[in-house]
Amino acid sequence: TQDGPLAREIAQVIPYFPFKGIPRFYDVGGLLASPTHFQKVVDIMAARYGDLKIDAIGGFDARGFLFTPVALALNKPFFMLRKKGKMPNTIYGEQYTKEYAGSDCLGIPRGAVKPGDRVLLIDDLVATGGTLTAGVELVEAQGATVVECACMVELKFLEGAKKVQSKYPHANVWGF
Ligand code: IMP
Repeated sequence: TQDGPLAREIAQVIPYFPFKGIPRFYDVGGLLASPTHFQKVVDIMAARYGDLKIDAIGGFDARGFLFTPVALALNKPFFMLRKKGKMPNTIYGEQYTKEYAGSDCLGIPRGAVKPGDRVLLIDDLVATGGTLTAGVELVEAQGATVVECACMVELKFLEGAKKVQSKYPHANVWGF
């Protein structure tokens, strides 16, 4: 499951961070402190996507960038989906709303994906699904197809995966 044993082993739960309205903040930073866990996560993802005919992998600003070793393991290009004002030569998508951080806008480097490309998107966690939806929208606006969104943790009660898949049934949301 998306908040399964491995994710739970790695992700520390911090109550009331970044503010009181968030009872449980999942911090996946522990991944970096344990090479054993880090390697395990990369191996699981690399095993899953080795046969999926992926052309490019996109990571979400900022914790999605932790998963760049998956791209190296698969020998695939990695691109960053960044928040506004962080990256030159960027195509921006629509404003979107997040679980607690208000609204945001994501950008993709011009030329990161080509029409027809099969793309994997990775983030640490899906909450409301606003971020994943914005990423899928942006990638698909370039003519590419998102074949899967991989997240270590899903806050199931927010039904984010369901929301992404009701809009984009082909963009499976997967976790472990
Ligand atoms: P969503 O757009 O509401 O699905 O929120 C997901 C985005 O917010 C991801 O990029 C996460 O990194 C971040 N996020 C939301 N809640 C948490 C949390 O509890 N821990 C870590 N990141 C979170």
